[in-house]
Order: sequence, then C-alpha cells, then structure tokens
Amino acid sequence: MFQIPIVFHPIYSQLTLPRNHRFPIEKYQALFDRVLHQYPGDFKVHQVARPVHEDTLAKVHVRSYINDFISGEISEKSMKRIGFPWTEQFVKRTRFAVAGTIKTAQLAFEHGIALNMTGGYHHAHPDFGSGFCVFNDLALAAKQLLDNDQASRVLIFDCDVHQGDGTATCCASDSRIYTVSIHCEKNFPARKQQSDWDIGVDKHLEDDAYLSIVSDTLETVISAFKPDFIIYDAGIDIHRDDDLGLINISTDGVFARDKLVFNMAKNMAIPIMAVIGGGYQRDIDALTDVHQQLPRAARAIFGVNNR
Ligand SMILES: [Zn+2]
Repeated sequence: MFQIPIVFHPIYSQLTLPRNHRFPIEKYQALFDRVLHQYPGDFKVHQVARPVHEDTLAKVHVRSYINDFISGEISEKSMKRIGFPWTEQFVKRTRFAVAGTIKTAQLAFEHGIALNMTGGYHHAHPDFGSGFCVFNDLALAAKQLLDNDQASRVLIFDCDVHQGDGTATCCASDSRIYTVSIHCEKNFPARKQQSDWDIGVDKHLEDDAYLSIVSDTLETVISAFKPDFIIYDAGIDIHRDDDLGLINISTDGVFARDKLVFNMAKNMAIPIMAVIGGGYQRDIDALTDVHQQLPRAARAIFGVNNR
C-alpha cells in the first residue's frame, strides 16, 4: 500500500525563544502530531538522520557566511535580520530543517510526492539571511537534484504570501531552475528581488481570484518551462487570519490551492515535493488547522484510493 512520505524531526519544534517572540515554533510538532492522528496509515514518516553538511550548503551559500553562522561568529546585526538569537540549538535546528527539505526532494524523486513538515526558507540569500530564514533549502534541494541528474529543469513554485526574494538571488544565475513567486506586493520584503516570474497581488485578495491566478500561472509555466521536478512552497500566510499576511484566503481556499497544484503535477507526471512554508498565528491549534490542508490535499490527490 502506498503511503505518502513525510519528513520530520522533533528538533523542528525545539527552539527556546525569548518571551513574546512572534515565531510559532510549536507548530511543526503540532502539525506532525495532527497528521498522524487524523490520517493513520496514510503517511510514512522519514526522520532526518543528520544535519546538512557545509559542502552541501556551499552549493548555494558563500563559505564565510556558512562558517560564521555555524561557529557563532556571525554579527548580532546579521542575526537581527534573521530574527532569531544565535544559539547552538538554533544552528542544529537550522541544519536539520534544511537536511529535511533535501531528503524530501530525494523521496519525491523516488515516489512522485513527498512533504517536509517544515521548510521554505525563501528569504535566505547566498551571503546573508533574513525574515526567519538562514539557508535557502528550496535552492539547495533544486541544486542537489540537478547535481545528481535526478532532474534537469526544476520549477520552484512559491505561494507563500511573502516574495521569495532569497530564492530569486540564489537561483538567478542557474537557467536550469525557474523561480515563480506569487506574493502580496505590499508585504515583506519591502525591496523585492527579481524571480523568473513574479506575480505581486493586491491586498485583500479573495479565494476565487487567487485560485485562478495560481492555476493560470502554474499551467503557463509548466507548458513554457517544461519542468521535470516541482518544489512547492505551500506557505499559508495567505490565510485571512494570518498575523503577517494581508490577503484574505479561507481555509477551504488553501485546501483548493494545494489540491490544484498537486493535481496538475500528478496529471503531468511531474514529481513534486512541498514544504509547509510561512504561517503565523498565536493560536497554534488554529494555525495547525490551516497547515493541515497541505497533507490533506496530498492525501486527496496521491492517497491510496486516488492512484
Ligand atoms: Zn511568508
């Protein structure tokens, strides 16, 4: 019986943060627990075995930045831009999370679909991090697939509400990777970078208009670029209750988006992997309800009764 691969490590949620820090670090464990509880038998769990190696990180990032972050020599100003205080624990968590996305790419190559229960560090640039992102797992997973000859044309399809500015700069010089970002124009980062295709939507956008943008964009890019692998950032900060999003997508809208992306990949027989991306609400249960739409959609499209 086919079980959809999901990648997890308890360290995803293990990060001691200053009191009142806005980042909902508990969400990863909460989502993982929810998936196992709600869909017993539908998913096969793959634990991340080891942290990502420096040489792998160097496929995208400059050595001095990698070394400074890992050793703790990185400046306080640089950490401020990332948004977390530097700790050994944070380094470990970061390296396991990135390793998780790379592992997810390998599993999707083998099985056609795989999900990482974290990931989507699209604000990480080659030589600096920002917006809760240190190393660009999306660009790294793409490079790894290309280097292993497991793909020749990788589409990074980023639907987080914030622009994938770091992914754009990390992949700018590589014509084998096509970067698409569908984001809210009036949102972080203030200074946008140039993806291969940027769609900056207006504030307060609602389900129907949003879903037709996602569908038309994906259809167009698949027929024009002809990817043989899709990396999907399924950020849910598009949700109407999100603290950092500015558009008005419902939970049903999130489910419909994830389903349409998976469905198009499946129909075109293109392997697809997804990361959960951004999502910010103080109420972890409510936030988990929205993140849960991704595994729910994967199950609807790739589940054993739908193959
Ligand atoms: Zn975001």
